Amino acid sequence: MSKFVFVTGGVVSSLGKGITVASLGRLLTSRGLKVSVLKFDPYLNVDPGTMSPFQHGEIFVTDDGGQCDLDLGHYERFIDTNLTKDSNITSGKIYWSILSRERRGGYDGGTVQVIPHVTNEIKDRIWSLAKSSDADVILVEIGGTVGDIEGLPFLEAIRQFRMDVGRESSLFIHVTLIPYVAAAKELKTKPTQHSVKELRSIGIQPDVIVCRSEAPITEEIRAKVALFCNVEERAVIPNPDVESIYEIPLCFAEARLDEIVLEKLNLTAGPADLESWRELVSKIKGLRDQVEVGIVGKYVSLPDAYLSAAEALRHAGFHHGVEVAVRWIEAEDLERGRLEVLEGLDGILVPGGFGHRGVEGKIKAAQYAREHRVPFFGISLGMQCAAIDLARHVLGLEGAGSVEFGSCAHPVISFLPGCPEVTGLEGSMRIGTYTCQIQPGSRSAACYGESIVQERHRNRYGLNQQYVESLVGAGMRVAGLSSEGLVEIIELEDHPWFVGTLFHPEFKSRPTRPHPLFAGYIGAILENRKG
Ligand code: GLN
Repeated sequence: MSKFVFVTGGVVSSLGKGITVASLGRLLTSRGLKVSVLKFDPYLNVDPGTMSPFQHGEIFVTDDGGQCDLDLGHYERFIDTNLTKDSNITSGKIYWSILSRERRGGYDGGTVQVIPHVTNEIKDRIWSLAKSSDADVILVEIGGTVGDIEGLPFLEAIRQFRMDVGRESSLFIHVTLIPYVAAAKELKTKPTQHSVKELRSIGIQPDVIVCRSEAPITEEIRAKVALFCNVEERAVIPNPDVESIYEIPLCFAEARLDEIVLEKLNLTAGPADLESWRELVSKIKGLRDQVEVGIVGKYVSLPDAYLSAAEALRHAGFHHGVEVAVRWIEAEDLERGRLEVLEGLDGILVPGGFGHRGVEGKIKAAQYAREHRVPFFGISLGMQCAAIDLARHVLGLEGAGSVEFGSCAHPVISFLPGCPEVTGLEGSMRIGTYTCQIQPGSRSAACYGESIVQERHRNRYGLNQQYVESLVGAGMRVAGLSSEGLVEIIELEDHPWFVGTLFHPEFKSRPTRPHPLFAGYIGAILENRKG
């Protein structure tokens, strides 16, 4: 039977609970255990797919087409596993299934209530992941902060869960903040005490407390947290500020978090093999040289909106031994003609996106990269913008555009076959993993070293077949095709590196295993710089 670790958050949001869970997952995996993860998000949206990245950061896409919270990206990157949509459940999803059952008469005349119906549905989701994943340990992260009204059913469900499975099969970890008060020159444990008190008032006593803080946690603070929060001193785990998030598993290993978890869960496992992870971290710490890549988007004031793309660039940097610094570029600045914001960049990346705002700026970025021979990577909408630039400025088709933004004289980007003409709703996109056949002799072929690849998609639109021939005449190469014959990858032949993908390669990049196209991109940037 699986064991279950529940992770809650206290004091404030944005404490990096997701990274805490992901790091613990790494430690347990490195001991040979099979780990799966479940993130509960207490908001009422069925999934974050329709939410603005300003609200929620990036939408992470799983192989099976789940539109998920960005924490799933952390889990996949740290644990090096592929998750499914069953690993991200929102209140919306829970209520959706309860209400559908209710309408079908599935409750036999009973009153449908938060306890037990909502809590049972929550528990069922945990059991069902345990069953389908066959994992030794299921890590369950409860989104939000203890004290939020909407999080209560989840906390009640995990409280019950422990009663159901017993102490030796479940564990509670609470992640809190120990703020540093500069005026007093002191770390303060009071907010943590209050947050644990809140948790205990609903019947949950944490077994482990992970303390985020900007200053080192002293033994004295550790003892104080232990005393006031009723946990063992060794189970107060510091989670300090670090240069790279990839150092966190090593910090936890040093604090013996994995040992404590195993002991409390009465689990035996092999010793932790952190060799490759240590190598990764020492590589990261040893980066001296730097390249600068501009990410052109419309949510750049919130870099979390492009988290996986930025991480994938960094991973490729680790591989080549360079630090990739990201310059965040507001697409609308380019629309206003401020092209100087692109000056001096080693590479330009236009990531995925939806909606008209900023698109003209992204097209300008692609044009700039093409004309100034700056290594360019276009992802999904970024690829579409590159095709529009070619159509407009090389083929001279002035009215070239995408039907996503209304009718245009030359719909170079049109609906993908099978995508219905509705927007914003589930089921109207080509989403999840599809096969792509790589064209021999292309740049992409050199990167992948394989002729058939699987990549994750999230599109409604793509290159209109009617324009492919003329675009090829304008110097574009079709470097990847789907089994339905859709153009998956475009390249420019006469350019240091100009690649656009319909899919999102960033979701498959791992710190120890960069995505081949990202690795190729950073490699080309370094080559280009030499030249
Ligand atoms: N909006 C574009 C489409 O639906 C691009 C989507 C994306 O970048 N993922 O095709």
